[in-house]
Parts: sequence; structure tokens; C-alpha cells
Amino acid sequence: MDIRLQLTNTPKQKPVDETKLGFGHIFTDHMFLMNYKTGKGWHDARIVPHQNLNLAPSAMCLHYAQEIFEGLKAYRRDDGEIQLFRPEENFKRMNVSAKRLVIPQLPHEEEMVEALMKYIDIERDWVPRTKGASLYIRPFVIAVDPYLGVKPADEYLFIIIASPSGAYYSDGFNPVDIYVEKHYVRAVKGGMGFTKTGGNYAASLAAQDEAHQQNYSQVLWLDGIENKYIEEVGSMNIFFIINGEIVTPELQGSVLPGITRKSVLELCKSWGYKVSESRISIDEISDYYDKGQLDEVFGTGTAAVISPVGHLKWGDKVMLINEGKIGEVSRKIYDTLTGIQYGDLPDEFGWTRKLS
Ligand SMILES: *Cc1c(COP(=O)(O)O)cnc(C)c1O
Repeated sequence: MDIRLQLTNTPKQKPVDETKLGFGHIFTDHMFLMNYKTGKGWHDARIVPHQNLNLAPSAMCLHYAQEIFEGLKAYRRDDGEIQLFRPEENFKRMNVSAKRLVIPQLPHEEEMVEALMKYIDIERDWVPRTKGASLYIRPFVIAVDPYLGVKPADEYLFIIIASPSGAYYSDGFNPVDIYVEKHYVRAVKGGMGFTKTGGNYAASLAAQDEAHQQNYSQVLWLDGIENKYIEEVGSMNIFFIINGEIVTPELQGSVLPGITRKSVLELCKSWGYKVSESRISIDEISDYYDKGQLDEVFGTGTAAVISPVGHLKWGDKVMLINEGKIGEVSRKIYDTLTGIQYGDLPDEFGWTRKLS
């Protein structure tokens, strides 16, 4: 891919205190852009100063939400080098999302990873040096035709922006409290649950808002048809350890195929655990809990990596998981994945991609 460079003459001051970065507030000096037009394909790949977009108020993405995104991180190793974690998986998934939203396919994932690495190389000084902090990377595509009719657009923008972000667990690696959502659903069979698109997040906000009002950090989503089978927790995938066996809901269309989820499955399999992807109901989980067989519960996603669950509330019943403490397996997975991501542990799976 030919990438045109227009670098800034006025670089921003980099954040001094990396413990106060937070998430998603600060942006690097540049962004990556590429245009699409029917008949012309993707063209004019460029890296330019981070700036506001010039969009028509009628731009289609603003009205009918034809939009997809991804999220991944660049990590700084102790030797100063920078690496990414399975970035080709993000671009593969982005093309799955694109297909569902009738957005044109992006170039092959390897070509996209190369373009991303060129961009991150330019922004390399923005990758934090504090352990746990990272450069959060947000690729996305929006439909930009100035048109109010409902149809797939003819013009798109692909953009990558990047944001130095602090450690997710700035107050320590602590379990969270969640409740089973009985009213709202996030996604349904035949819908867009398996894609990363803004609409799924918009659909989740009301439940998230109510959860926060009740001092819960997330909701556990059930399936949208029978309101019975477990799907995800907030915007993370969910895992249960039942009698020493690792179980996660199967991917049946309404669950997002997380890259952390996939990595946890591969890692636990390599350690000799029995792992399964299956349809699992909240009633079954409650029964295992009553029998003392629900060992650990945790969410997985790029942001938190592993998010242990302390309390799981279902109606009037509150399940206290592993005495509210971080489980042994949750801890081991967290330490191993973050160890690989930051280059502190050998990458036996070939998951990391170092910037040259
Ligand atoms: C992004 C996302 C996840 C986690 O995916 P990762 O690739 O592990 O970051 C899980 N659920 C939803 C709904 C998501 O949007």
C-alpha cells in the first residue's frame, strides 16, 4: 500500500504522568485515512495530522449508523521495542463486520497490519512506558455520502486514531459486581451481535446506565429470544469455570467473537484444561453455584484482558463467586496474557508482532 505522509509541524506535548492517562481522552499527533468510492475502490491512503473531519451533516453514517470499528493496543516492552497482539485478527474481524453492514471489504489483513505498523511507527513515542499502560488503537469505517435515502453508501472513510491510555486496573486487579439483565437485550439471532458496530453499543447504553445507578459495573446479557442463555458481560465475553472445566458461550451470531476469548481458549487448552464452547443457561449456572461447583467467573476483552466477577446477581439471588476473590485460574490467565503482550514472557503462540 502506498501511504502519503503529511507530518505535523506542531507536535503536541506528550503526557508527563502516565498514571493519569485514563482512557480515550488524549490523541496522538497523526491519524491514518483512506477513502473508498464505488468504481474506484480504496484509495489515497495517507497519514496526516490528527484533526476534525469535514463531514456533510447529511453524511449517511450520522443517520443510519453504517459504521464499524475495531480496538487493539500497542505495548511497550522492557527493551523499549513496541509490539502488537494478534492485529491480523482485528482486520479479519473488521471484514466480517464490513460484510454484515454492506461496507466494502478492506484490503487483505496483512496489508492492513503493515499500514497500521507504519502508522504506529510514526507515533512510536506516544506508546507509554509504564507497565499496564498502552497505546489504544481505534480503526473504523464510516459511510460519508451526503444522502438521506436508506441504502448502502457509495463513499466511505477508513480511519485509524490512537490514544495513550492508562492501566485498566489502576486501583489494582479487583473483581467486579454484575447482574443478569432481564429486560434489555444487546443483540438477537440474525442481528449484528457478531460485529463490532456502534449500533450494538447504542443498544447497550440504557442497561449500562441502570446498572451504574445500582452500583453494578456491568450487566450479564441473556439471549434475545428465550431470555435464558448467557451471551456476554457488558462489552466483554464471559467465561465460567465449572468443576475445573472452562466454559464459554458458543458463537452463534449474537456473541462477539473476541480475540481475547479466542486466546484464552487456546491458552487453557495448551495447559491441558478441558475447555468447551456451549449453550449455557443462567439456570444451569445457578444450579452449579448451589452445588458449590462454580469455581470462577470472568469477562475477557482487549481493555481489561481479564475481569474477574465477584458478585453475580440474578433477580433476588446474589451469587458470591470464589468468596469475592480473584480465582487462581483467572489470575494465571491474566498474568500469562499480559506477560506475552508486554514481552515479559516468551510468545510460544506467535501472537505478537514487533515493530521493526
Ligand atoms: C470488542 C468486544 C469484545 C471483546 O473482544 P476482544 O477482541 O477480546 O477485545 C466482546 N464483546 C463485545 C460486545 C465487544 O464489542
